[in-house]
Amino acid sequence: MELAKRVQTLTPSSTLAITAMANALKAEGHDVIGLGAGEPDFNTPENILEAAQKAMYDGHTKYTPSGGIPALKEAIIKKYKVDHQLTYETNQVIVTTGAKHALYTLFQALLDPGEEVIVPAPYWVSYPEQIKLAEGTPVVVKALEENDFKLTPEQVEEAITDRTKAIIINSPSNPTGMLYSKDELEKIGEVCKRHNVFIISDEIYEKLIYGEGTHVSMAQVSEELKNQTIIINGVSKSHAMTGWRIGYALGDEKLIKAMTNLASHSTSNPTTIAQYAALEAYTSPQEKVEEMKTAFSHRLEKLYDWITDIPGVECVKPKGAFYLFPNVSKAVEANNFDSVDDWVKALLEEEKVALVPGSGFGSEQNVRLSYATSLDQLEEASKRIRRFVEKHQ
Ligand code: PLP
Repeated sequence: MELAKRVQTLTPSSTLAITAMANALKAEGHDVIGLGAGEPDFNTPENILEAAQKAMYDGHTKYTPSGGIPALKEAIIKKYKVDHQLTYETNQVIVTTGAKHALYTLFQALLDPGEEVIVPAPYWVSYPEQIKLAEGTPVVVKALEENDFKLTPEQVEEAITDRTKAIIINSPSNPTGMLYSKDELEKIGEVCKRHNVFIISDEIYEKLIYGEGTHVSMAQVSEELKNQTIIINGVSKSHAMTGWRIGYALGDEKLIKAMTNLASHSTSNPTTIAQYAALEAYTSPQEKVEEMKTAFSHRLEKLYDWITDIPGVECVKPKGAFYLFPNVSKAVEANNFDSVDDWVKALLEEEKVALVPGSGFGSEQNVRLSYATSLDQLEEASKRIRRFVEKHQ
């Protein structure tokens, strides 16, 4: 049997591949520390679990409208009004099976074959693959480490061709944790406006920002840019709800309608019970979100110090999300490995610490460490990485 061309070039997620290797070692009885995870280690808050249980027993176990239950759409609209002073109508919202499927449906609804999407690197692993699945062309533009892994307006201008349809802005970013300021967004937005480039604003880590910075959405920059932007968000990272699979998109009515039609033929609707759980997440007090953020912030401070103290490891300090993305090229060279991929593999084999090589994120010199795990584990992992680096000097 010959598989369809569209899946023949599809690469498996590098984050899931390293997790599989780490799990195989764990199954053999090894004491593995996995820093590959892209999900909070906290449990979903109790009141959300109770709301899901109540929904089940209240009979909310049937299909819902494809774009989501009206009450959740209203809660999402209210959240963006309160947090970002943005106004959306009900027909400008779709609830989806995770933010990942919001993006998948968006690319399917937006792109004709050969149309280009600018993807700033380092990027989240699924963007290029999803664009290709929609027969679009990802145009990867490398954001420089010395510019805090952020694209400049000049880089955006240079990447635009007559086939450019959209650009992705993921702030705070997975994997770098970088955050665009309002001023930076204004300048990039100006270029997008001039060339009529649509903006995909992935705001999934919006609630996880540490220190001074605040989250600004491209849709807040001006009314014109709001009309040119689709917001992608969800409850996975903010409310420790990765397994519930609830995300959403906010934007142009025509586009949302097309995405809803597509969803009606693919998922029918996001899981009913999970929608009620997400409704509780958005309409109840948010102190659990703050508690998790405080814990992440504390871990970031500690892990950043431990990791940057290791010889040959340099790191731009993240402003959000729950990842460090250090440049390990000097350590890899001093340790006599040919590539970061080989170094990561040897680290897992010898010291049983699982990191994700930067190659999967379009950045060959870096590794991604997730600090969605306990401080004890982070400290032990840092010691093991140091031991590994020193042993191979
Ligand atoms: N966007 C980014 C940048 C992510 O890191 C992730 C998850 O890892 C997603 C979107 C998808 O999130 P969800 O769990 O809601 O599908």
